[in-house]
Amino acid sequence: MKPVPGHIPLLGWSRKRWVDWLADQGCSPVHAASLVREIHRHGELSLERMDSIPRHVRAVLFGQTECVLPSIVESSCARDGTRKWLLRLACGDVIETVLIPAAGRATLCLSSQAGCALNCTFCRTARSGFGRNLTAHEIVSQLWLVRHRLQPDIPVTHVVFMGMGEPLANLDAVADAANLFRDSHAYSMGCRQVTVSTAGLVPGIDRLRQVADVSLAVSLHAPDDALRTQLMPINARYPIDDLLAACRRYVDGGSRKRKIIIEYVLLDDVNDSSECARALAKRLRNLPCKVNLIPFNAFPESGYAASPESVRTRFREILCEEGIVATTRRPRGDDIAAACGQLAGDIRRPHEGMPWVDRPVLMHEPLSTAPGAMA
Ligand code: SAH
Repeated sequence: MKPVPGHIPLLGWSRKRWVDWLADQGCSPVHAASLVREIHRHGELSLERMDSIPRHVRAVLFGQTECVLPSIVESSCARDGTRKWLLRLACGDVIETVLIPAAGRATLCLSSQAGCALNCTFCRTARSGFGRNLTAHEIVSQLWLVRHRLQPDIPVTHVVFMGMGEPLANLDAVADAANLFRDSHAYSMGCRQVTVSTAGLVPGIDRLRQVADVSLAVSLHAPDDALRTQLMPINARYPIDDLLAACRRYVDGGSRKRKIIIEYVLLDDVNDSSECARALAKRLRNLPCKVNLIPFNAFPESGYAASPESVRTRFREILCEEGIVATTRRPRGDDIAAACGQLAGDIRRPHEGMPWVDRPVLMHEPLSTAPGAMA
């Protein structure tokens, strides 16, 4: 089922957009907040049941909005409690969403694109090539589905754009989604609870600062340009000095005290030497940041291996000795290929028991009274 051209996808619009649109329709914009609350806070998609909105406003919405949800192709749960869903979008593309529960928090790892165009050599998503940008509706529907339908018993506290895709290559949709996550009428997340992770698109970092108030994570993975370009071809366009200058502008420009999260995947005998650690510390010396060391998650024919634990520990100790805050990320969900860089959209096992398997659903039920009779 294809979305109806011209219809507004219900999940993708910020409160501000509803305010403007309602005013254009001759309705009071005060109903925008109620609408956002119904959809995102209460998980209500049926206009018929949105009792907080006057019927004449719902009649206007009824004719012009739609809500096609992704279908669930597969769901899996890892030994450590990490859950992964394979979602098929209305157009057929398959994306992945991963929920990572931990003590006192639950993080949802979202996809922003179907596939990815950046070709980082150690990332599995890169192998599937680039499909397309997701719409804001498709990005938000990942959180909406998990929060209100798939896992309502585990409230999502954090959202990270660390699934498939490069979020800053799809900035308009990512910003719309992030602003909804932050909206106190929708998901009420704080700026530290929404993290956008980038491979280093410098103009995107500058724009992100202007369009959303969120945390920034940067995938650095190497202390010098020669090695970084080898691992991440995007570095040829935006080398490390330019990237770190953009990071500095990002933290300086905000009203709050922020830190950039520097991600660094440890690859055996590639970027994990003591010299690399020292060179990294030197580069980061004047940047308010903390380093997140990521153990490499292997996948078939990656050509890389994970650094041994002793090397990872040494690397972290050197950073700490040099005054850089560094933590090691525990790999989560690696037995179901849900860990960083393992998301490939491959389909291995049909999912059972979900109400809407393999079928996008148009959620709007007809209003029982004819729209004309409602005003
Ligand atoms: N495009 C964004 C989001 C990518 S995924 C970015 O580049 O930041 C989130 C993190 O996982 C990135 O830091 C990415 O470099 C890292 N990653 C990719 N493949 C990995 C792998 N096989 N093992 C561990 N981390 C990986």
